[in-house]
Amino acid sequence: MDARCVNCNRKADFDIDKSKVTCKECGLELDYEEYIERMKEKAVTMADDFQSTWDKRGF
Ligand SMILES: [Zn+2]
Repeated sequence: MDARCVNCNRKADFDIDKSKVTCKECGLELDYEEYIERMKEKAVTMADDFQSTWDKRGF
């Protein structure tokens, strides 16, 4: 199954049987639970970036 790599943002592969996410591009290999945690952290970072962009526009 396809997944998004949390490291390089390219296509990673989610192995459902092993519950592991691997990325051929950068060599990332994470357990699914860890992958989800990384995804959450990334989402928070992106929200922060969005907020600061928003603030600069003065709205
Ligand atoms: Zn990667």
